Amino acid sequence: MRGSFGSLRMLHGELVEPSPLPRTLPACRQARSHQGRGKKIEVFLENIITYSKSYTLVLTHSCANQCLYCGFRKKDEGIITFSDAEEIIKTAKEKGHWEILVMSGEKPQKIRKVSSSFKNLGYKDFTSFALDICKLILKNSLLPHTNIGVLSCEGLNRLKRYNASMGIMLENINMRFGRTVHPQKNINERLRVIKDAGKLRIPFTTGILIGLGEAREDRRNSLKAIIELHNKYNHIQEIILQNFTPNRRSKIRIPDPITAEDWQELIRFVKDNSDIPVQIPQNLNQDYTRMIKFGASDLGGISEGEDHVNLDSRWVMIEEISKNIESSGHRLKGRLPIYKKYFNLGWYSEEVGNVIKKYLEMEEFAYYKSPQLPLTKG
Ligand code: SF4
Repeated sequence: MRGSFGSLRMLHGELVEPSPLPRTLPACRQARSHQGRGKKIEVFLENIITYSKSYTLVLTHSCANQCLYCGFRKKDEGIITFSDAEEIIKTAKEKGHWEILVMSGEKPQKIRKVSSSFKNLGYKDFTSFALDICKLILKNSLLPHTNIGVLSCEGLNRLKRYNASMGIMLENINMRFGRTVHPQKNINERLRVIKDAGKLRIPFTTGILIGLGEAREDRRNSLKAIIELHNKYNHIQEIILQNFTPNRRSKIRIPDPITAEDWQELIRFVKDNSDIPVQIPQNLNQDYTRMIKFGASDLGGISEGEDHVNLDSRWVMIEEISKNIESSGHRLKGRLPIYKKYFNLGWYSEEVGNVIKKYLEMEEFAYYKSPQLPLTKG
C-alpha cells in the first residue's frame, strides 16, 4: 500500500483514515529539554522551524529553455571565472553563510558560448566544470547544494561526492499545461532525475511551482508523483512549495492568486501522505508564519545576497524572521544543506563529511550529533 492514495493513506508507517482539513493545525507543542546522563539534551518537536544561510553562485545564466515565467535566463552568457567564483565564496563566508547554492540555466552546454568557454578551460563537459567549482567551495569549508537542471545519472553520480545535497524542481506534472508556460521542459526527464537521485542516495530537494494558472488537481498530482518516488527511495529531504512571483523579466502575470485555503490544502496533503518536510521560501511568501501554522517547517535558503531566480524578492533579515517566528510560538534554527535525517543515515562522502564536521562544532548545529533525536520524522 506504500505510495497508494486511495481512501486509506500511509502516515509514519500506519494506515490512517483521511481526515477533513482543519482550519489550522493544533497549537504546536513547545520545545522542552531534559537532563540525560548529566548532559542537557534538547528535544526537537514540531515547533522548530529551520532555514539554511545560503549564498548563490551562478555558473552561467545561459539556458537552452525559454520558460515564460523566467527571471533568471540571460542570452549568450559564458561561464563564471574561477577568480569571480572565489570572490563570491569569500563574500558568502564573510557574511556567515554555510551553504552555496550552485546554479545555472538548464542544459547550458547547448549554448555555444558556454561550451566553448568550458572547452577552452580544458573541460570535456559542463558537469566537470561544475564539479571543480564544488570542490573549490568545499575547500573553503562551505557546503555546496547544486541545482543545474536536468543531469544524466552519471552526471549526478559524479557531483554527488562534492555536494551536501542536490535538487531540481519538478514544477508541474501536467505536460499539456506545462507546454503553455515552459515549452521546452520535459517533465519525464525531471522525474527521471529525481528517481536517479533516489537510486544514488542523494539527499534531494524538489518541489512544485504554483500560481501559474495550473489546476488544483495538477498540484496534488505533482506532489503525489514526488511522494511516490520518495516512498520508493526515501531520499526527498524537503518539498518546496514555490509560488510564482512575477519579476521584471517574466513574460506572464499571476492569473489567480493562491488562497490561504489552497496553501493549507497543499501543506496538509504533503504532511498527511509523507514524512517529508515542507519548505516555504521566506522571500516569496510574506505570510510565512501562517504557512507554519498550516504545517510548513522550513524557510529554505536565506541569503544576504540576491535571489537570482526571483529578482525582486529579497529576504528579510534573520533577526526579524526569528522574532516573528518566536511570536508565533516557534523557534528558528539553522540547518545544513543536508538535513539531519540524511546526516544520520550517512548519505554523504568523506569530502563533504570533513566540512560537515567543522559545522557540528558550532552550537547551532550540535543537534546533528544526536542520532536518536531527528529534527524531522522519518
Ligand atoms: S526557468 Fe530555468 S529552465 Fe526555464 S528558461 Fe529560466 S533558467 Fe531556463
